[in-house]
Amino acid sequence: MKVIIIEDDPEIVEAVSLCFDLRWPGVEIVSANEGIAGLDLIEKESPDITILDVGLPDIDGFEVCRRIRLFSDVPVIMLTVKYQEFDKVKGLELGADDYITKPFSHVELLARVKAVLRRSPMPQLEEEGEPLIVNNLRIDYACHEVRVDGAKVKLTPMEYRLLHSMARNVGKVIPHSVLAEKVWGGNYVNSNDYLRVYIQRLRGKLRDDPQNSKLIVSERGVGYKLSKQRD
Ligand code: CA
Repeated sequence: MKVIIIEDDPEIVEAVSLCFDLRWPGVEIVSANEGIAGLDLIEKESPDITILDVGLPDIDGFEVCRRIRLFSDVPVIMLTVKYQEFDKVKGLELGADDYITKPFSHVELLARVKAVLRRSPMPQLEEEGEPLIVNNLRIDYACHEVRVDGAKVKLTPMEYRLLHSMARNVGKVIPHSVLAEKVWGGNYVNSNDYLRVYIQRLRGKLRDDPQNSKLIVSERGVGYKLSKQRD
């Protein structure tokens, strides 16, 4: 496993490294203390996970995250400071998978890391079966490939999981809580806001008009469904 830590505080880098090292002996850890350098590292090293601080000396973590998503689907956990103004929704909108507040315990960090890694690689069991085709969307479960109008769509592991949950029950409304559980695991309670952000992201990638969604339909106060009907 390869980890990239983008953080300018050496103590935090050390603490995070220690966490990984204890849990995954032999893990390869590379760190950068600035955003631009971190982006270069990600491009060069193709890590399995990235820990990204919000406050960096050059460009902030939000901008780093935005730029990561232009070329990589690596899981990203953002680090923030307690009481610091941190827009969680903004972080998720820019493509982060999760965030954690400093100071954090080893247990907390590992729980988040494990949750993110569990979602990546994609679900492997029960992945046989025919591809699902709904209008211009095609999901090939066997190879985790999603296409819209024949063009391949790059989804992050979490986005795929979310889509997968709805696709496996196409036409049925999946309650918010069930979707949140599938995507984040059991730790999240008030995740409806995050879910909304993810759904928006997914709609954007699947070219489903967010103002007038025909594909991922919201059942107000209940949940979301992948609709078979185009109009
Ligand atoms: Ca910092």
